[in-house]
Amino acid sequence: WTPAAPPTPDAVAKSLHDVFGFNGFRGVQNQVVDRVLHGQSTLAIMPTGAGKSLTYQLPAVMLQGTCVVVSPLIALMHDQLRSARANGIRAATLTSADTDRGQTMDAFRAGELDLLYIAPERASQSHFRELLMSARIGLFAIDEAHCVSEWGHDFRPDYRLLRPLLDAFPQVPRLALTATADHHTRADILAQLGIPEDGMIIAGFDRPNIRYTIQPRDNAMRQIKAVVEDNPGPGIIYAPTRARVEQLAESLATATGRRVLPYHAGLPPEVRARNQAAFVASEDMVMVATVAFGMGIDKPDVRFVAHAGIPKSIEGYYQETGRAGRDGDPSVAVMFWGADDFARARQRLSEIEPHRLQSERQRLDSLAGLVETAACRRAVLLRHFGEQPAETCGNCDNCINPVGVVDVTDVARKLLSAVYRTGQSYGLGHLEKVLTGVADDRVLQRGHDQLSVFGILTEEEKPMLKALARALQARGSLTPTEHGGLMLGGDAREILKGEASVAIVVPPKTERKRRSKGGD
Ligand code: ADP
Ligand code: ZN
Repeated sequence: WTPAAPPTPDAVAKSLHDVFGFNGFRGVQNQVVDRVLHGQSTLAIMPTGAGKSLTYQLPAVMLQGTCVVVSPLIALMHDQLRSARANGIRAATLTSADTDRGQTMDAFRAGELDLLYIAPERASQSHFRELLMSARIGLFAIDEAHCVSEWGHDFRPDYRLLRPLLDAFPQVPRLALTATADHHTRADILAQLGIPEDGMIIAGFDRPNIRYTIQPRDNAMRQIKAVVEDNPGPGIIYAPTRARVEQLAESLATATGRRVLPYHAGLPPEVRARNQAAFVASEDMVMVATVAFGMGIDKPDVRFVAHAGIPKSIEGYYQETGRAGRDGDPSVAVMFWGADDFARARQRLSEIEPHRLQSERQRLDSLAGLVETAACRRAVLLRHFGEQPAETCGNCDNCINPVGVVDVTDVARKLLSAVYRTGQSYGLGHLEKVLTGVADDRVLQRGHDQLSVFGILTEEEKPMLKALARALQARGSLTPTEHGGLMLGGDAREILKGEASVAIVVPPKTERKRRSKGGD
C-alpha cells in the first residue's frame, strides 16, 4: 500500500463513472471512500440499500494491491462477485465451495485481483496468512461487521479471529461495514477490529417513504389479507415458521386471488431460486417468507412488508421493513404482534448462554418498547440507531391516529395477584373468570370463588384485561408456564409492591369499537 499518493478527486469521479456507471456518490459514500483512500481505518454504518459495496469496491479498483473482503455468507459473496464482475472488476471468491482455488491463489499472488472475498473462518488458517503475506493487499473490508460483537444480533465467533490477522498487516487500512448496530455493538466493533473512534461514519437511517404501523394481532389471516388487498404492488410477508409460511401462502392465494409464493430454508434450493426470481421480476407478487428471504435481493419497488409475528429485534425489524420502498415511493410496513410472540421469545432466553443473556433480554425489551409505544414509531426507531429525530413524523400509525396512554397499575396488581393466588398455573381465560366473578365448575372446584381476588375487577377495568395481559407478557412481568398457564416474571413483584407502574396504549376510537367485537 502506498500512502504517498491517494488518487485525486477527479480520478475518483472518473472511476465512479467509468467502472460503476454512477454520476456521483450517495449520502456518506464519499466520506467513507475518502478515508479509505487516505489509508484511514473506518467503520461505516449505512442502512441496507445505501450502497455499502461501492465504498470498498471503488477503493479496490483504485488502490495498489487487492482488497480482501470478509463476508459471512457464501450466497452473499456470490451475489457481490457477480455484480463486481459485471462492472469489469477483477474479483474472485476463495471458499470451500470453489473448485478453482489454485487458480485464484495464483492470480492473487500475481497481483491480478482487485477483490478477493473470503469467509471469516479462513482468517485463523496459517496457510491463509502465508498466502496473504505473499501478495499485496490494499484494503481489508469486513462486511456485516456486527457479527464480531456478542452484543450484535448475529454473533459469529469466527469474526473474533480476524483481529490477529489484521494486526499482522498494520499498514493496511480496515473498513468495517454494517447496516445495523446499536451503540454497544458499535463500540464493540471498533474495539474488536482496532478502528479508531473518530473513524466511525453513520449514515442517516430514516426511510421517510415507509409508513410504519404496529398492531396487536387478533385475527392474523383477516389482518394480513387486508394489507394484501390494500396494497396491489409487490410485497413480502414475514412469518415466524416454515409451517406458518406454507399455510399463509396457501390461504392468501385463495382468499385474495393474487399470486402468492412461499420462501423458506426448508424448500429445495431450485424452488427457492425460482420463487425468488419470480418475485424480483414481478410487479404484483406476494412473497410469504421466513427471515431467510431478502438478504442480497435488489428489488426497489417492494410496496409493503408485513410481519405476521414479531421480528427478532429492532435491528431485524428495520432491516426487514427496509426492503420496502427502495425506489423512494410510498410504501408500508405493518407488524401484527401477539403476547404469545413475546412469551415464546422470552422462553427462548432460558436456552441462551449466560454471557449473552443480558444483551438478548435488552434486545427484546427494546422491541417491546417499540411495539407498545404511544409515541411516534419512527422516532423510537431512529433513537435506537443513535439519531435525534423529531418527536413526530406524520407517517406512522401513532402520528396519524394518536393513541392515548392509561395508567393501569391497579388493574395490573389485581391480575398479578390473581395469578399468584391461584398458584401460577392458569391461563388468562380462567384468570378472567376469577377476576370478573364468573363461578363456573372449574372455578368452584378449585375454590377460586373463595379468593380475595374473585370478582375484584370493576366494570371499567374488565375491558382492559386483554390489552393489559398482552403488555405484561411483552415486558416479561407475566411469563408462560410449560402447560399454557401464566406465572410471575420480570418486575411482577415490583408492580405488586407498588414500586413499578404499568401503562397501556388505548387505540383510537374506531379501532376500539372494531376490536371489542372481535376479541383476541
Ligand atoms: P447495501 O450493501 O448498502 O445494502 P448496495 O451496495 O447493494 O447496498 O447498493 C444498493 C444499490 O444502490 C445498488 O443497486 C447499487 O448499484 C446502487 N448504488 C450504490 N451506490 C450508488 C451511487 N453512488 N449512485 C447510484 N446508485 C448507487
Ligand atoms: Zn410518527
